[in-house]
Amino acid sequence: MKILKVDHIGIAVNSIEECKKLYSDILGLSHAGNETVNEQKVTTAFFPVGESEVELLESTAPDGPIAKYLEKKGEGVQHIAFRVENIEEALAELKAKGVRLIDEVPRKGAGGAKIAFLHPKSTFGVLVELSER
Ligand code: ZN
Repeated sequence: MKILKVDHIGIAVNSIEECKKLYSDILGLSHAGNETVNEQKVTTAFFPVGESEVELLESTAPDGPIAKYLEKKGEGVQHIAFRVENIEEALAELKAKGVRLIDEVPRKGAGGAKIAFLHPKSTFGVLVELSER
């Protein structure tokens, strides 16, 4: 498998609107827009930073994965995403090497990306997302 770059850093927040004040007004990053991914019960907001992006994640439902995360751990870095050349190939290779996968098959992420998560139990406590676009 080939990792091309850190695609983005996912940060769970209670309110994108509130958090935008920091990333736009104070840190001076441009807001590339919001997108709601209904299957994940999440709205995302992207702020490009050089080759990577900051992704803010706000839950759209009390039973969504981000709502559960916020309940348990509060706001903060939720995942790190690596851009890979070929996500199916990467998942097959990782599985063969004994890495626990949350998604055996890629699903649809924001921006039309194909994404899959690795289990934090296999990645020293970090929720790792693979992304191909
Ligand atoms: Zn992400």
